[in-house]
Amino acid sequence: MARDRFWDRDVETLSRRDLEALQLERLRRQLVRCYEQSPFYREKFDRAGVAPRHLERLTDIGRFPFVTKQELRDEQAAHPPFGRYVLAPRGAWRELHPSSGTTGSPVNTIWSAADVEVITDHTARTMWSFGAGPGDVIQNAFAYGLWVAGLAVHYAAARIGAFCVPTGTSPAPRQIEMLARTRATVLLATPSFGLYIGERLRQAGDAGEPLALRAGCFGGEAGTELPSTRGRLERALGIDAYDYYGLAEIAPTFASECTEKAGLHWAEDHYLIEIVHPETREPVPPGDQGILVVTHLTREATPMIRYWTNDYARLDPVACRCGRTHARSPQGIVGRSDDLIVFRGAKFYPVQVEQTVRAFAELSDEFRIELETERETGLDRCTVVVEAGPGAAAADLSDRLRRALREALLVAPGVRIVAPGSIERTAFKSKRVIDRRGTCPE
Ligand SMILES: [Zn+2]
Repeated sequence: MARDRFWDRDVETLSRRDLEALQLERLRRQLVRCYEQSPFYREKFDRAGVAPRHLERLTDIGRFPFVTKQELRDEQAAHPPFGRYVLAPRGAWRELHPSSGTTGSPVNTIWSAADVEVITDHTARTMWSFGAGPGDVIQNAFAYGLWVAGLAVHYAAARIGAFCVPTGTSPAPRQIEMLARTRATVLLATPSFGLYIGERLRQAGDAGEPLALRAGCFGGEAGTELPSTRGRLERALGIDAYDYYGLAEIAPTFASECTEKAGLHWAEDHYLIEIVHPETREPVPPGDQGILVVTHLTREATPMIRYWTNDYARLDPVACRCGRTHARSPQGIVGRSDDLIVFRGAKFYPVQVEQTVRAFAELSDEFRIELETERETGLDRCTVVVEAGPGAAAADLSDRLRRALREALLVAPGVRIVAPGSIERTAFKSKRVIDRRGTCPE
């Protein structure tokens, strides 16, 4: 019997009108809970002069204040350890997931038993949408432990009836050994690690065991939807590559691409998605780029109302070719506002450098962006460090790369080509920007 292409046909194909009616009903209930049970939200709403009764239509959400990560940090510091926005009774708490804390103290997020169930179910939906199901062997190279994604996809792999190989962040040789030995068909990893595994496979060449992989879904970093990066992942691993997105404060893996590769599908029955202008903070016209703002419609324990993600995306509410009606973000997450590089008056994102570098077949998958201040002149210097791939590099390579970067970034960084293998690889997220400005280089 052919499998249904939908995990939850009724929900995934709701008409826009019915979907929005469901969102409005759930949003009302969530706002009332937050106002009545959480002093954190009640004080915020009172300060902004709004109350749940002001929500008549979905667009009225724009009257409610945003929540920022810094605000959650301050709230948790003032009311340790979890702040005053935990709404589920303690006996219902099941898991703690702090954010990674790379930019300040981590924000704690709690999943209740009901939250674990919802997260497992919509993660199962994402996996089903890119073609995973019973009979698949899913190698899960997402980090387990405190990082949110590892456990969520582990639960979901069981839910869809797949066989899970929980490799976590084991080193690349071990990952490759497991891919071959288990005949894994689906790989879940960061795109950086996917490319690294691909590079090790290429080095092993014919000596390596053949793999059975057919699909990979890549999250934890932006970039999978860049045509050059997707192409590299697909060629290196012999797979179809899909994009995955999650955020510690919101949920792991709550958006993924379907087999149409037409952008991240949001689980709009559980999350209200807004795209707002970074400065005016008003909604942008449909299809325009802006800051992604997310509201939990069904989260029980630590609900977020209008969480300001700092991630840039655009939203397409038109039904996808796959038949799903939930809105998509074509090209995925186009950049993090935190990652914006300002150099000699120009502004650009690391993902623009990635797109340019990966369009050069002569270069390896790795790159770094180094920023520093020249001691003599006090001027800022930006250098894109790339690795030559296998084979001799053409003499004009650095000139061509410099020209392509200037065209993409509207500013001309320096270029340095280093020997193959000299840039450090990682089993998790790569650190691609090294900013030493303001400190004099030795
Ligand atoms: Zn689709």
